[in-house]
Amino acid sequence: MTSRKEIEAWNEVDATENIPKLPGQGGRRRAPFYKVLQGMPIAVDAFRYGAIPGITAYFLTHAHSDHYTSLSSSWKNGPVYCSEVTANLVIHMLSVDPKWVHPLPMDTPTVIPDTGGVAVTLIEANHCPGSCLLLFEGPQTVHAGDSAFKSPFVGSSKMFRYLHCGDFRASPRHVSHPAIKRKPLDHIYMDTTYLNPKYIFPPQAQVIDACAELAKRIAAGKFSPQARTLVVVGTYSIGKERIVKAVAQALQTKVYCDPRKAAILRCQSDQQLDDLITSDPLEGGVHLLPLGLVASDKLESYVQRFKGTFSRVVGFRPTGWTFTPPPGSNSSVAIQTIISRCQGYSFTYNDLRPSQKSSYDVQVFGVPYSEHSSFLELTCFAISCDWAKIIPTVNVEHKGTRVKMAQWIERWAAEKKRGSTYVIQPRTDDYW
Ligand SMILES: [Zn+2]
Repeated sequence: MTSRKEIEAWNEVDATENIPKLPGQGGRRRAPFYKVLQGMPIAVDAFRYGAIPGITAYFLTHAHSDHYTSLSSSWKNGPVYCSEVTANLVIHMLSVDPKWVHPLPMDTPTVIPDTGGVAVTLIEANHCPGSCLLLFEGPQTVHAGDSAFKSPFVGSSKMFRYLHCGDFRASPRHVSHPAIKRKPLDHIYMDTTYLNPKYIFPPQAQVIDACAELAKRIAAGKFSPQARTLVVVGTYSIGKERIVKAVAQALQTKVYCDPRKAAILRCQSDQQLDDLITSDPLEGGVHLLPLGLVASDKLESYVQRFKGTFSRVVGFRPTGWTFTPPPGSNSSVAIQTIISRCQGYSFTYNDLRPSQKSSYDVQVFGVPYSEHSSFLELTCFAISCDWAKIIPTVNVEHKGTRVKMAQWIERWAAEKKRGSTYVIQPRTDDYW
């Protein structure tokens, strides 16, 4: 797609925002062009658009509600492909008829039936359990979807390679994955949630260690058999399990959550997690609660219920926004400067501060934990991969935001061109 064609395609998206329903198709919404792989009969995270013209394979990247909207027990528009954990989750949570759900193996190219020979490889996305990146390889065979754009390559023998990121937290493991390393990618469909230099937050591994260390220090401060510290971690959907596991292991305790949540956790086929779960709130020194309950006033009454076992409570509220970036990470700064500034900074338990309303008995900590890539990670990922075009899939509703994102994508392209051998040194295997 040329730049002009791409602008037309985005304009089409803007126009259909105002006329969302298609007449005579059961009130179906028009699928934006980026929901359908160019020239392939494949849609990704596009269930809300119903039976999309020409689509024979519907992919789901992970089991978060904004990605599976309209996938339910009444789904009948075609086969749904996803990872095994995501398959367990949608069958359990959404009662999708298992006859439609096709779990695929990880890291193994698999040819998808009725797609003209397209093969897909699922790669761990580093987002929530079961989440994956999808690498598609194959020819363009069809004008599918609702867009007026017609690719000139349909019917040609040219092979295309598209990487769909779903939601992801980019890591050096992605760019060194054999399916991605040194492979020219025609399109990257990118999770651009934090494609803005104001979104600089620390690596997950550092944040997880900080939470575990802080919990350990607080618990050790006033430990006696009569007075234990309860640690509460807030989550509202699947995800953030890594914090829970690390804190429970640091405190050598079990994890309590309600039976509904426990059943969802058991869908994740994570033996380590399964072994930690208990149905007894007094046995679990870590409780998993909805995020809304992790506030000083609510935790005060919550811990009262377990008086005699727990005398104080520490709450962790994981969000992506509680971190103030180091000064100077703005748009006028050179990309290499942003990278070295970010890499020069480490996050420890000392950086976790109790909220203003905290008291000795009830302490709540905002945790800058995100399962989406930071601006640094998007930048390192983009500079380390070989791509022709990046298509944003998040924050695309406003033209102003799209223009700003496009400018960063251009800067990444220029950076790649400037030094084809320029490789960013990751700090560990897990993060840059
Ligand atoms: Zn998600």
